[in-house]
Amino acid sequence: MKLRFWGVRGSIPVPGPETSYFGGNTSCTQLYDDDEPMVIIDAGTGIRILGMDLVKNHPDKKEIHLFFSHTHWDHIQGLPFFAPLFIPGYKISIYGPVHYEKSLEEILDRQMEYTYFPVRVAELQAELQYHELKEGSFDLNGYTVRSKYLNHPVLCLGYRFEKDGKSVVYCTDHEPYYNFIDDAENSEEMNQIIDEQNGKLLEFIRGADLLVMDSQYTSEEYHSHTGWGHSSIKHTLDLAKNGEVKKYALFHHDPDRTDNNEKKIIAELQKEIKNPCLIKEIFGAREGLVVDI
Ligand SMILES: [Zn+2]
Ligand SMILES: [Zn+2]
Repeated sequence: MKLRFWGVRGSIPVPGPETSYFGGNTSCTQLYDDDEPMVIIDAGTGIRILGMDLVKNHPDKKEIHLFFSHTHWDHIQGLPFFAPLFIPGYKISIYGPVHYEKSLEEILDRQMEYTYFPVRVAELQAELQYHELKEGSFDLNGYTVRSKYLNHPVLCLGYRFEKDGKSVVYCTDHEPYYNFIDDAENSEEMNQIIDEQNGKLLEFIRGADLLVMDSQYTSEEYHSHTGWGHSSIKHTLDLAKNGEVKKYALFHHDPDRTDNNEKKIIAELQKEIKNPCLIKEIFGAREGLVVDI
């Protein structure tokens, strides 16, 4: 399996000279293997160039499986610009967390109403199929796919893809569970639930060959963003260490983070590998980077 990053930024695209090394496009990741169906995770603005690459360089890959972690803007905004949607012959299966008020299809269709976009879903040429997911697991040709709820202000899924004993876990837009209710009477019970939830996520990522995970904030930044649904780098590093993952990719970089700042953070983190720890590699996800799994 190989994983390629096409968009690594959180919240909003930030093109410009200060972000050109890691890239300014919002979340989009591609998982591929010669014989297997094409898997894409999230359709932030990075999916536009991926779509053009598929059409130009891989015209035989007409079956695409597109997974959404959730439907916040930075994970869906590239979808109307995904070239295969406009070409007959493509079969695109779309997966995402079930919503109880609107269907996944309805949510994605909304951003292609005339108010926001000049082409409507009814005019698309590809064949689309929608699959609403909860926590669980299923087979997708060669892959075993597992999904797990994350802690975010909307239903959000993390995914684990496994094949031939190798695994990649994608968990973005997640904040560790914590006790936000100041209620001494119930705090013991509440803390137990919180420990249980954090423990379940630890088991979900355990032993992954590659963990791609929300690392939006420094510890200082996190203090003023508690409850926004994102992790500090320290949170994710601790999880990666305890879960004994082999490679940890920092992902969903804060839009205010310049390349220089991100490089400094990563250089500091790499010292951690020298401490007794099973993580072999820590790096910042950047556009165009391909990771062998
Ligand atoms: Zn996001
Ligand atoms: Zn989000």
